[in-house]
Amino acid sequence: MSAPQKDSDILYRFTFDQTPIRGNTVHLNQSFAIALQNHDYTPALRVALGELMAAGMLLAATLKMNGALVLQIQGKGPLKLLVVECSRQQDQSDLTLRATAKFSDELTEGSLQEMIGDGHFVITLDPKDGGQGYQGVVPLEGGSISEILENYMRRSEQIETSIWLACDGQSAAGMLLQKLPDQQETDPDAWNRTNMLADTVQNQELLQLSTIELLNRLFHEEEVRLYEGQAVRFLCTCSRDNVSNMLRMMGEEEIKSIIEERGELEVHCDFCNQCYRFDKIDSEQLFVSEITIPGTQSRH
Ligand SMILES: [Zn+2]
Repeated sequence: MSAPQKDSDILYRFTFDQTPIRGNTVHLNQSFAIALQNHDYTPALRVALGELMAAGMLLAATLKMNGALVLQIQGKGPLKLLVVECSRQQDQSDLTLRATAKFSDELTEGSLQEMIGDGHFVITLDPKDGGQGYQGVVPLEGGSISEILENYMRRSEQIETSIWLACDGQSAAGMLLQKLPDQQETDPDAWNRTNMLADTVQNQELLQLSTIELLNRLFHEEEVRLYEGQAVRFLCTCSRDNVSNMLRMMGEEEIKSIIEERGELEVHCDFCNQCYRFDKIDSEQLFVSEITIPGTQSRH
């Protein structure tokens, strides 16, 4: 028998038959590496972001929407901000993510709580298909990324959700269990039972076992149905067009005075570190108003 393949950059959904419980697993490998490759983050910060990336993917997979789910942890300590954006593309083919962090020079290795201090957890839904957006802001509660998210889901969404996360600095992985509301309780003990079984999971198992192996290892006496996996990849949605629009919103006078002073204007993307440069000629083109020649106007 050949060794089972490791899961890599993939999200799986599963359900427990005859119960209102569903779950997901996610493995982030290349997507994790690429998301952080242009950033100089400490090991503890890489772990925190890795866990938040895995958590974001797990939550995004539970939502029926096209668009972006943005998770932010805003702190008053040396670690100021963690941001993870998870998106489902319009064609539903795959899931994408990007991440960034802001911190002060005083950031040292420590627990998440020591790095962040007091702060807020912000969750934003940004549907790309015209649906209603949403933003929730709650005080940070919990000593780990999984506790912060579990508390948020229980308090604000009133959905029982359990999350297990692991990150070894090179890859991240996670598992989520959720109890859907408004279902007949044919098996009232199922939620406690599956949670107790899942709680035995070790970080190494989350990171290294394939989803099939993991589900067999944890829930071999339960009836688990596993669905087809969905690929996960890094994608930054920044572009020269987006940056140009942002500069236009800052106004012609402001932009021209910056370029006058410095010779050119540089905008760095916080997520992928791409640098967009605008010189004098570029800036003039930014503010050329569109000229319509009579007779060439397109008709609608
Ligand atoms: Zn970018």
